[in-house]
Amino acid sequence: MSKVPSPLVLVGAGLASALVAQRLSLATEGLPILILEARDTPFGEHTWSFHDADVDVSDFTWLKPLIARRWDGQAVRFPRYRRHLPSGYSSLTSASVAAAIAGLDNVELRLATPVASLSGHHVALADGTVQLASCVVDCRGYRPSNGLVLGYQKFVGLEVELREPHGLAHPVIMDATVDQRDGYRFLYLLPQSPTRVLIEDTRYSDVAEMDETALVGDVNGYASTQGWSIDHVIRREQGVLPIALAHDFDRFWSELPSDIPQAGMRAGLFHPTTGYSLPDAVRVANLVAENWPSNSEQLAKAIRQHAARQHRRQRFYRMLNRMLFLAARPERRHLVLERFYRLPTPLIERFYAGRTSGYDIARILVGKPPVPVHRALACLREAPLLKNGLP
Ligand SMILES: Cc1cc2nc3c(=O)[nH]c(=O)nc-3n(C[C@H](O)[C@H](O)[C@H](O)COP(=O)(O)OP(=O)(O)OC[C@H]3O[C@@H](n4cnc5c(N)ncnc54)[C@H](O)[C@@H]3O)c2cc1C
Repeated sequence: MSKVPSPLVLVGAGLASALVAQRLSLATEGLPILILEARDTPFGEHTWSFHDADVDVSDFTWLKPLIARRWDGQAVRFPRYRRHLPSGYSSLTSASVAAAIAGLDNVELRLATPVASLSGHHVALADGTVQLASCVVDCRGYRPSNGLVLGYQKFVGLEVELREPHGLAHPVIMDATVDQRDGYRFLYLLPQSPTRVLIEDTRYSDVAEMDETALVGDVNGYASTQGWSIDHVIRREQGVLPIALAHDFDRFWSELPSDIPQAGMRAGLFHPTTGYSLPDAVRVANLVAENWPSNSEQLAKAIRQHAARQHRRQRFYRMLNRMLFLAARPERRHLVLERFYRLPTPLIERFYAGRTSGYDIARILVGKPPVPVHRALACLREAPLLKNGLP
């Protein structure tokens, strides 16, 4: 009798596990993959967007089934400056991801199955059952860590059907022509059809606490100022994303077992300035495929080495975040972004992709900073913040 092979077990049905499952399914012949999700619906309530330049052209081949919508440009608005950028932009949604994963014959998704503990060769479910695995990847999402000093990007978004067309041809990544409250505030607009749009009120704030009711009111208020009349709300999403001001790599990873691979927010793999994890999750999905066949120990080592490289590359973004959160007064933070958006398009694209070059850094820093120089200088070093915490 032939023995049924143990599956690759992905713990958590979120963005990171979906990308690993999709990438590996196309790269391997019928590899059994089991995704275990604690909740009774998979993939949460999200719109996950990314810029074309965040990923390699070849990634679109395997990402395509997951993508709900793509635009060929985007815009930003500041009090003294507006700009259209010809940079492509795409969104995945929880629904488009769920549909794509459901279409993969080799992937089994088990809902309402909380995992109590993990090892490299099996996971123990909360009901006491043990599931054997050829490899386990921990994709359980964000976890607080003593190795991170954070600011926050927090937002509430309403996807609404309007009574009249909104007139937006492209996403508006930041409309910062609004009152500056609770840090840097902007609206994010994602047109879904001529009359349907996702409107998100976003704050770059010092504190994680969020008054969701007030933000819903602010989204409604913004719609009125645009002359939009909301017929009904289709769905709502909200988030509080980590913005890394300082990151102690060794401390962060000492909190995790070294023989179990972690992916996504769990692994601290997000852009320090946006809190977005999709570009990094794509890279990790590629890394898993390149290292396959593998086991938990080998994969854990490969991902940790990748994370160490990312941590070094992201040093500049953490320094900029310290400028934004510690040197700039909250009501003047939007000036930092306004200034940034006057730079050339390829530089902006490389910034979001996490591929900022030495030359880009010079371009970003040159000239009169929109923050007091003595306060900017006090933010240059990461170590004091890691030692003493936030002032
Ligand atoms: C509303 C929202 C919008 C966002 N938009 C973007 C965006 O546009 N672009 C972008 O790049 N990033 C975006 N982000 C940031 C980030 O990319 C997301 O948070 C992303 O979902 C993180 O992926 P993940 O797989 O690490 O974690 P998650 O997607 O959070 O998935 C973790 C999953 O693990 C499950 N889980 C937890 N514990 C257990 C357990 N014990 N057993 C079983 N399952 C468990 C959770 O229920 C969850 O489903 C957004 C975040 C939010 C909240």
